[in-house]
Amino acid sequence: MIPSATGYSPFRDEFPELSVKVHGHNLIYLDNASSTLKPMAVLDAERNFYTTTYANVHRGVHHLSQLATEAYEDARRKVAAFIGACSENEIVFTKGTTESINLLANSWGSIVRSGDEILVSAMEHHANLVPWQMLCQRSGAILRIVPINEAGELDLQALDEMLSPRTKILAMVWVSNILGTILPVEEIIAKAHRVGAIVMLDAAQAIAHMPINVKALNVDFLCFSSHKMFGPTGIGILYGRSEYLTRMPPWQGGGDMIRDVEYNKATYADPPLRFEAGTPPIAQAVGLGAAIDTINAWGWEAIKVHEKQLYEHLQDVLNSIPGLRKIGYAKQRTAVQSFLLENTHPYDVGILLDSMGIAVRTGHHCGQPLMKSLGISGTVRASLSIYNTTNEIDRLGHSLRKAARMLGIAS
Ligand code: PLP
Repeated sequence: MIPSATGYSPFRDEFPELSVKVHGHNLIYLDNASSTLKPMAVLDAERNFYTTTYANVHRGVHHLSQLATEAYEDARRKVAAFIGACSENEIVFTKGTTESINLLANSWGSIVRSGDEILVSAMEHHANLVPWQMLCQRSGAILRIVPINEAGELDLQALDEMLSPRTKILAMVWVSNILGTILPVEEIIAKAHRVGAIVMLDAAQAIAHMPINVKALNVDFLCFSSHKMFGPTGIGILYGRSEYLTRMPPWQGGGDMIRDVEYNKATYADPPLRFEAGTPPIAQAVGLGAAIDTINAWGWEAIKVHEKQLYEHLQDVLNSIPGLRKIGYAKQRTAVQSFLLENTHPYDVGILLDSMGIAVRTGHHCGQPLMKSLGISGTVRASLSIYNTTNEIDRLGHSLRKAARMLGIAS
């Protein structure tokens, strides 16, 4: 069913947390880039798993352990199908995007040498910056930052000039959590491959907003977090091409990642288990599988149509507010908008909106270098999802006008 633009979302009823009152107001949740709310299907799947099927995985002959293993591996198959991977063996379960990038920086990073170059953009989340800084400190590799223009778009000409046979890894965000920019990733991947670099995409902000096919993209690694796509916290994905994963050493040692262990040495399991030391997030995987089923049932067409209407309405509403400056106005965007009210601190605006029941995020959004380059300390960020409505955006507009009056910048 295609949702209408009339201030309603047919998906709202599936999200029980939307009925919460905040300071006496109906909650308006506009912090979806940070984490999405959870539909009943995900909550039910986890509860059902814990009450009927739960046991530890992979090491038990008993009935429940086998059922739990089957459920865990079934979730892996669902993830593989969801992103168009060749095989479920290309799907590594991690704690989230941050851990996926750290895994890659540590494991693939072990072949990086002094003088090699690693490219990231000027709009990375700290999760796709600090692990590479740490790798460069360890290895003597050089981290290079591809600049962006004023609108928040990647400077593709600069990228061309920076790519060279010295570039070993290009690790880049697909959708900026701060600016909402959608990067032209097909073009970027092709350019990087031409110089022999491997490419990792940080799809944390893409995964809930657009269909992804890693084969069609021809990307080498891709990572995302379940909690940003209606699934549970504590689980995320590192997708890696089989031919690369099989060459990568483990980065953490322990149970489940081994083939054979002696007192002074060990051999390791094949991927993906090689990278999943210890008891994994089992029920979370089941919840993630339910989130994928739910997104598939909604359908990308319905999601895209609704989010487009919301995005356009948000732009209209924000454009009508005197003294509001938008941060990030790239041509290709998702439903994320950072902004500032002139002469106010984002934190004050966020606190006032909260007092009116509206959840937005304020601050540097884990992008301190970008904030510094823009000469600001932070922004207010409204980020939309499938359950938001145009009425809620109208209320954001009214509340921003009220906040501006309370902060003495409008009459
Ligand atoms: N990358 C981007 C673009 C993000 O927006 C985020 C979280 O906001 C992350 C990485 C880190 O995700 P997580 O905290 O789930 O590891």
